[in-house]
Amino acid sequence: MTDQTSDPPAPTPREEAPPAPGGQKQQNQQQRQRHGGRPQRQGNNQPQWPDLTVVIPLFNEEESLRELHQQLRSTLGRMNLRYEILFVDDGSTDRSFQVLRDLKRNDGHVKIIRFRRNYGKSAALAAGFDKAQGNVVVTMDADLQDDPAEIPSLKKRIDDGLDLVSGWKRKRRDPLTKTIPSRFFNFVTARMTGIRIHDFNCGLKAYRRDVVKTVKVYGELHRYIPVLAHWEGFRVGEVTVQHRARRYGHTKFGLGRFWKGFLDLLTALFTTRYLRRPLHLFGVWGLLALFAGVVIDGWLAVEWYLGRTSLGNRPLFLGGILLIIVGMQFISIGLLGEMISKTRAAEPEYQIREFIK
Ligand code: UDP
Ligand code: MG
Repeated sequence: MTDQTSDPPAPTPREEAPPAPGGQKQQNQQQRQRHGGRPQRQGNNQPQWPDLTVVIPLFNEEESLRELHQQLRSTLGRMNLRYEILFVDDGSTDRSFQVLRDLKRNDGHVKIIRFRRNYGKSAALAAGFDKAQGNVVVTMDADLQDDPAEIPSLKKRIDDGLDLVSGWKRKRRDPLTKTIPSRFFNFVTARMTGIRIHDFNCGLKAYRRDVVKTVKVYGELHRYIPVLAHWEGFRVGEVTVQHRARRYGHTKFGLGRFWKGFLDLLTALFTTRYLRRPLHLFGVWGLLALFAGVVIDGWLAVEWYLGRTSLGNRPLFLGGILLIIVGMQFISIGLLGEMISKTRAAEPEYQIREFIK
């Protein structure tokens, strides 16, 4: 029996008061809290949540979708579990949506989210994560570069205790213009974040349900989901996966991705490591600059006082002043950050993995 019976009887539509602004949202939120983060189901039967949700973001991939669906069905059918396949159409302008509707007509496992316009892969993943109901969530690209046959081995690692498993395309089937910068990117990211995986941006990943309901993917942060998850305290690992060349269509990400990628790394680092203590990031550099500036200018001042130098022809003097100003600015930015972070204190700073009563 569900705990639905303990709720007060639902008002009939006529009795229902008009919702206050934001009231519906609040009600949904309360309901979710009561049901372990899951929307409530109607009826008295124990809800049958799927074991697995496959989330597939796609943008103009009409040629690949049927084949992808076929391969998914053959793998998932053999796994003997309850599953759903959640396609997120990120504003495709080709016939992708029509193809998806056809697929759905013949397969009850298929669900479709359709965006009004192209919002980008991160937004598509975020929407998929929000709607996914499975205990394990697998993401994969729609372009047939990821092989659905890898899903069982990813899921096994989750069942064995990891919270996030990332695919590692050990042998990549992509042009050199992509693989070389990508290696560099992965190396720097692993170094800066301390996470020992080789391939941050692999589309093929598996997550325990808690992870997708916790991490906030926005902007272009999908490349850093392992970083965000790691900083929330989830256990992150990887398995090697096969990678295939793109057969249809073309890549949706140009060279610009690498510049944006590094800006996003800064965002990922800042919003995970330093969100709650911005002064530790800015303050350290600020103090260093301030100290260097004071030492340099102090020394020059002594020299000038002793009549050994005239300050007008010492560029170093200006350098010292610059350091002092920059240092003060960094410290004040850090303090401002601390003030902003204080006003957000209502949001919990920690994530509880288990609560044993
Ligand atoms: N994608 C998306 N929205 C976008 C760009 C890409 O949903 O704005 C999807 C795309 O359809 C594919 C996946 O994200 O399923 C990965 O994209 P792509 O294959 O172009 O990236 P690459 O493999 O070249 O890194
Ligand atoms: Mg691809």
